[in-house]
Amino acid sequence: MTNSRIPGAARGSSSPIETLWFESALLPDGWAQSVRLTIADGLISRVETGVPQSGAPGYGPAIAGLANLHSHAFQRGMAGLAEARGAGDDSFWTWREVMYRFVERLDPEGLQAIAALAYLEMLESGFTRVGEFHYLHHDRDGRAYADPAEMAARIAAAAHETGIGLTLLPVFYAHGGFGGAAPGGAQRRFVNDVEAYGRLMAASRAAVAGLPDAVVGVAPHSLRAVTAEELASIVPMAQGGPVHIHIAEQTREVNDCLAATGTRPVTWLLDHAPVGPTWCLVHATHVKPAEAAGIVASGAVVGLCPVTEANLGDGVFPASDYLALGGAFGIGSDSNVSIDPAEELRTLEYAQRLALRRRNVLAGGAGRSTGGDLHPRALAGGGQALGGPASALHPGARADIVAFDGRHPCLVSRAGDAVLDSWIFSAGRGLVDGVWCGGRQVVSGGRHHRRDAIVARYGSALRAVLA
Ligand code: ZN
Repeated sequence: MTNSRIPGAARGSSSPIETLWFESALLPDGWAQSVRLTIADGLISRVETGVPQSGAPGYGPAIAGLANLHSHAFQRGMAGLAEARGAGDDSFWTWREVMYRFVERLDPEGLQAIAALAYLEMLESGFTRVGEFHYLHHDRDGRAYADPAEMAARIAAAAHETGIGLTLLPVFYAHGGFGGAAPGGAQRRFVNDVEAYGRLMAASRAAVAGLPDAVVGVAPHSLRAVTAEELASIVPMAQGGPVHIHIAEQTREVNDCLAATGTRPVTWLLDHAPVGPTWCLVHATHVKPAEAAGIVASGAVVGLCPVTEANLGDGVFPASDYLALGGAFGIGSDSNVSIDPAEELRTLEYAQRLALRRRNVLAGGAGRSTGGDLHPRALAGGGQALGGPASALHPGARADIVAFDGRHPCLVSRAGDAVLDSWIFSAGRGLVDGVWCGGRQVVSGGRHHRRDAIVARYGSALRAVLA
């Protein structure tokens, strides 16, 4: 890594070839017992089942690490600061005012310190890759830094020091509302024109060049913030990589889109943009059945962030109908108010139960496990959306592995998909024992190897931001 702002990588196992043994593991074709994985050069080179431990380090049940397809890392620092009621009805829009005040104070060091804590917590909870939807680009006065990717480099540095896989999604943000409205003063740190965004993309690619398996995509912020002409200009800058966009998160956004264009946001997007398998439609909360079917037909992934969507009072995505159509989805921690893939999957299912007054809504049929059906779909959809190497426990895949604590009370007499259900609906992140990213162990005993230093730096940085 040539970037001087990037400190040493996360410590961990460094032997080029090693073997790990798990009492069970979820392989692409189902659970297997007594599984030995051989890891070479960051990849799984061999999978053996029904073999004795015979000297290899042993762990409880293992699954492939999940992608967190939508994160705004800096928002981890304001978790818990937007939960007091204001004068009127609180909403996404009043939350956004708190977020804008927080953004005013962040400098590059503060961003890196907060992002490192967020990524550490992602790893400790079982995420092994993050899609960072990164929109905080400029200095406090709104002027670009000398390096337009100064802030992107801080995100890359945080990924490097924690060891998490990074898909960097620099955000294009130009307007404060539909119809090309001028951005507000609080948005000055986010905005670029198309030309400046091209420079930002080039600098962002350079900023992640030393990270193993890093991916760069484009992220038009939302139809509120981008005109049709701008959208057409920036999508090709993905160069075949991921394209992520916030869409139809809020009913007001839907109504504003209807007023400005005569169509709903998802309909407009499907009609005017080359939406396909490299696209991720983040939220897509307020979709009509025909729009959900259109997303499925396009091959795009819907990026669901159930915990944040609940926290912000966004609404409930029609997941039952969408999954029945075969729609692809992944999960994201978005505002990072709480970081835990199990909690995201649990909240996804619970919202459906509350809305439909049924249980096990997202299980694929009679006798099927809810966790057993949700995890592989989130794994596949998240991986598709982030464009990195596949995460799966099979030869040739990147060795992104999450091992659960086989002695945890929540796993007593559990086997197969009951392990997933007990993780998602009961134990959550407390079940995570070991985590490997690209073959390097970064979490042991549920703790990230650099936890103490990263937490201490986060405390100092956040106290300065909130002083
Ligand atoms: Zn978001």
